Amino acid sequence: MKVPYLSFDAANEQVRAESLAAFEQFFDKKWFVLGQEVKAFEVAYAEYNQTTHCIGVANGLDGLIIALRVLGIGEGDEVLVASNSYIATVVSISDVGAKPVFVEPDERTYNIDPEKLEAAITPKTKAIMPVHLYGQPCEMDKIMAIAQKHNLRVIEDNAQGHGATFDGQVTGSFGDINATSFYPTKNLGALGDAGAMTTNDAALAAEAAKVRNYGFEKRYYCKYKGMNSRLDECQAALLNVKLKYMATWTAERQQIAKWYRTALADVPGIILPYNHPKANSVNHIFLIRTEQRDQLQSYLREHGVGTLIHYPVPPHLQEAYQDLGYQKGDFPIAEKLADTSLSLPVFIGMTREQVNYVAEQVKAFCLVRA
Ligand SMILES: *Cc1c(COP(=O)(O)O)cnc(C)c1O
Repeated sequence: MKVPYLSFDAANEQVRAESLAAFEQFFDKKWFVLGQEVKAFEVAYAEYNQTTHCIGVANGLDGLIIALRVLGIGEGDEVLVASNSYIATVVSISDVGAKPVFVEPDERTYNIDPEKLEAAITPKTKAIMPVHLYGQPCEMDKIMAIAQKHNLRVIEDNAQGHGATFDGQVTGSFGDINATSFYPTKNLGALGDAGAMTTNDAALAAEAAKVRNYGFEKRYYCKYKGMNSRLDECQAALLNVKLKYMATWTAERQQIAKWYRTALADVPGIILPYNHPKANSVNHIFLIRTEQRDQLQSYLREHGVGTLIHYPVPPHLQEAYQDLGYQKGDFPIAEKLADTSLSLPVFIGMTREQVNYVAEQVKAFCLVRA
């Protein structure tokens, strides 16, 4: 049997007829940027995300950058972010001229450790950026309490968390203004680049909508030195189709994760994702950990199973961030996660037989090595 890391086949088949019809309608309408499709998607996604406002943008990184900008965060400010985050979160902070300050993750949840936040706060700290990594919600109760106590802003990076909840509340609805990505491989993926910001603050939403369109207050009247980060009508039309499937697709991902948990329970040397009692993960990625990660990845490849590593190099060791002056050993938990993590296949249409096959291969490797 062969199991790819990712396949779009089943999801695409499910939305084929509706997507082609939506594309045809878009094609005939001849309205390409910021029109009715974007408006409809913004309304539908705001409802899905249980926020009063959604602002479509060109991609997730831009959404994070605009969120920081409308909160007035820039030169001289510090922003707290997990030391194992995806690099885009860190890039958004440096893009606005602020300094990313890394806080180690909780070794169980892989998300920013709330217990370590306060020690990283200085007079320059302006915001916390919780990233709901792998679809697992951060501990938002503790994070929001610390933000409130120290008068910090919160910007959630919800690119991997579409539809996840913490304590019953949807991620991407806790922070002042939050961003998400609809990159094709995300749980809700466009057929190209796309992203959005979500907020319950009407004033911030209005400012963000200006910044994404050159900073125009109205057409040709420029209030900010903004940017061009508009969401295409075509992508919005296709996202409008896929959004209707999200409840079903999320349940399917969660079922796949459950199958993995059953099949991989008590395998020696393998650490499974932690289930925080208040968190409802949407299993964007099913990540296991083992000391023999590279050997396991090779073994799985030889046995027809595709895997990926999220992520091999933590931000503080990236070449681009040498200027921060960090070296190996500075964030040992992030480094350990980078050395031991392996993401197993999860995709819409994955069968129980495929999950069991992957699990059998993992077990076979572990029993030989144990
Ligand atoms: C994908 C992703 C982003 C960036 O989104 P793009 O649309 O690729 O710019 C940011 N943060 C996280 C956690 C992501 O997974």
